[in-house]
Amino acid sequence: MPLLSIVVPAYNEQDILEKTAAVISDTLSAADIRFEILFVNDGSRDGTWEKIQQAAKLNPRVRGISFSRNFGKESAILAGLSEAKGDCCAVIDCDLQQPPAAMVEMYHLWEQGYKVVNGVKSSRGKESALHRFAAKAFYAAMSAIVKIDMTKASDYKLLDREVVEVLLGMPERNYFFRALSEWVGYPSAAVEYDVAEREVGKSKWSTRALIKYAVTNITAFSSIPLNLITVLGGIVFLVAVVFGLIALIQYFSGTAVEGFTTVILLLLLIGSIIMVSLGIIGFYVSKIYEEIKQRPKFLIAARTDAAEKQAKEKEQK
Ligand code: UDP
Ligand code: MG
Repeated sequence: MPLLSIVVPAYNEQDILEKTAAVISDTLSAADIRFEILFVNDGSRDGTWEKIQQAAKLNPRVRGISFSRNFGKESAILAGLSEAKGDCCAVIDCDLQQPPAAMVEMYHLWEQGYKVVNGVKSSRGKESALHRFAAKAFYAAMSAIVKIDMTKASDYKLLDREVVEVLLGMPERNYFFRALSEWVGYPSAAVEYDVAEREVGKSKWSTRALIKYAVTNITAFSSIPLNLITVLGGIVFLVAVVFGLIALIQYFSGTAVEGFTTVILLLLLIGSIIMVSLGIIGFYVSKIYEEIKQRPKFLIAARTDAAEKQAKEKEQK
């Protein structure tokens, strides 16, 4: 019987962890699916790791690893996938906003031969209007770039072992799970789910973090911003030609003294365009710098006993 590994990234989720483990476990047991749950403690500052260790003691199907510090959700997903042993791997949030029942449906689709099964949000749950708008804009841009509709995409997915290996083999440091698992292609299916409200704790995403996330991921997938600079340069050049001609005409007709305001405005405009352009180029350079350092994407500081044993076995092989 095939094994399903469930990767659960957890950052400061002590209050719900126990329940998450129980709900996932019950749902899959009821559906007669062989599974393991792999919690990844992403450098939580509360009792999450202790809770994971407890859960692992209670339930032999639960394993856990713990990062040395907070590396972010994408790294946590990646670490979970690299530790997972399943023939297929699912990724689900720790806060139960994504109904575990949908995983059963995903699993059956996988059995039918789909290599990527995407959880698709049928509604986005409760959010502020601004957040909703920003998310929409980001996913519209992202969809245009990846050329796949991502407006309803989420990290709730089930992947075949083959796809997991491809993802693990990707050398990039800047890892955008949601888009990369689309990027790889492979026959995919979708399962719709309703986003539930967060029961305890609050979303780990501040507006600042979300903006950073959006900018980083767009630049990780696209060099359009760089091309935009060239386009801007072209436009400014055209404007320059027009103004140059006007200036020459004025010079030869002897009315050249006026136009001080124009000069100031042009200076300001061109100055700001140059600075923004330099900023964009600088951003890409910094990303190249990050990638080229080849630092590990995460550091595992601790494992639950069972996970430790498995890691040793893997090493010996
Ligand atoms: N998470 C993580 N590392 C982080 C931030 C979040 O592992 O740095 C986990 C978090 O514990 C949860 C999932 O990512 O399991 C989604 O986080 P959250 O619910 O805060 O995001 P939202 O549902 O608001 O998008
Ligand atoms: Mg959530």
